[in-house]
Amino acid sequence: MIFRQLFERESSTYTYLVACAETRAAVLIDTVKTEVTKYLQLLQELDLKLVYVLDTHTHADHITGAGALRDATGCKTLLGQEAGSACVSQALHDGDQIPVGNLTLKAIYTPGHTDDSYCYLLEHRNQMCVFTGDTLLIRGTGRTDFQNGSAVDQYHSLFSKLLTLPDHTWVYPAHDYKGWQLSTIAEEKAYNPRLQVRDLDAYVELMDNLDLPNPTLMDIAVPANRACGK
Ligand code: FE
Repeated sequence: MIFRQLFERESSTYTYLVACAETRAAVLIDTVKTEVTKYLQLLQELDLKLVYVLDTHTHADHITGAGALRDATGCKTLLGQEAGSACVSQALHDGDQIPVGNLTLKAIYTPGHTDDSYCYLLEHRNQMCVFTGDTLLIRGTGRTDFQNGSAVDQYHSLFSKLLTLPDHTWVYPAHDYKGWQLSTIAEEKAYNPRLQVRDLDAYVELMDNLDLPNPTLMDIAVPANRACGK
């Protein structure tokens, strides 16, 4: 397996490159439009063929590179069916399998941050990795106060889905603002302050009182991302 964690400074976004070493098929997860030239260069340098670009959700803080990458490479762009985006190649459903050469990513529907949030699970040689988007961050969780977000849904996505993954599963989020790059399910269960709540009501109360400003790019990014970043 070939793996790279790429970082975009403006929005503190992590973009992940996962590729099959045997077939050279590659997928990019959560791309940023301003970085597309770099992704194309890296794909060429590593001799990889981009087959899919995935977004974990319709982002509000940056514009996706999905449309530009599809134009440049002929790859397919995937996003959850709930996004209602007419421009994606294929809409994802819970449990969908995404083949990348000899690797397979599994889509897990995890609404809460937005109603179109998905996580992608990868298993390779007994190591599981989950790309958690903004559902589970390192020592945090994605806000639930816009884009049809729901703290109730997020609680269930976290406690009934993500936290039931094996403890040693690596957690790769879509953002980190402090430079943390990797965590595990066990670590987040033990030390993520948002996960130390006694029940659903306590989680909802916590999330309802965060009082965060809207992302500066939100009014531009959301409509642009519904159009594949065009
Ligand atoms: Fe987000």
